[in-house]
Amino acid sequence: MQIPHDTRRALDVVVALVNTTAEADQPDGLAEIGALRGFVRDYSISDVGELSARDLAGVRAVRGKFAQVFAAPTSRAASVLINELVATAGTTPQLTDHDGYDWHVHYFAPGASLGDHLAADGGMALAFIVVSGEQERLRRCEAPDCRRAFVDLSRNRSRRYCDSRTCGNRLHVAAYRARRKEADAEVSEHEQVVHGGKQQQGSDHP
Ligand SMILES: [Zn+2]
Ligand SMILES: [Zn+2]
Repeated sequence: MQIPHDTRRALDVVVALVNTTAEADQPDGLAEIGALRGFVRDYSISDVGELSARDLAGVRAVRGKFAQVFAAPTSRAASVLINELVATAGTTPQLTDHDGYDWHVHYFAPGASLGDHLAADGGMALAFIVVSGEQERLRRCEAPDCRRAFVDLSRNRSRRYCDSRTCGNRLHVAAYRARRKEADAEVSEHEQVVHGGKQQQGSDHP
């Protein structure tokens, strides 16, 4: 699937935002404004003014909506959610080449709050996925103790695990441990034989 670069970047932001949600083993990644500032910095989100508690609440609300899109059972359900998101945010498509980036489209309205900004650009990126008939690429990691969101960009839509926290690796590790366990079982059988031999040797030297 060909995804324009800026759409891909917007999807990265959507995924990262959804993955700040508190889970059983992880506190809320956007618990306070400092964390939100860090998020804006990490993802080089442009045109963001001074942030307030209101922005934090707004972004967290949008995060919940994005999570709903990931959970949407059908493209129709996803579309309803996305339409709501972008309608509430208000979009004003603008071509821009700010900060040395190639020409790309910003969807957020000038002066939009950070929540509306993310809803507009993330919402349009999600819309692109639905329009491409690729909604099933919006996934949650299938590792038993991980529910992180990711966008499966593999050619044959076969990716099942997120790459953060190296879930793919962890499954390799699980397979490795299973093999080790079998090997250990064989070794301990061996050891019994060896120790038996040693004991016999030992009995030669009381
Ligand atoms: Zn931009
Ligand atoms: Zn995972």
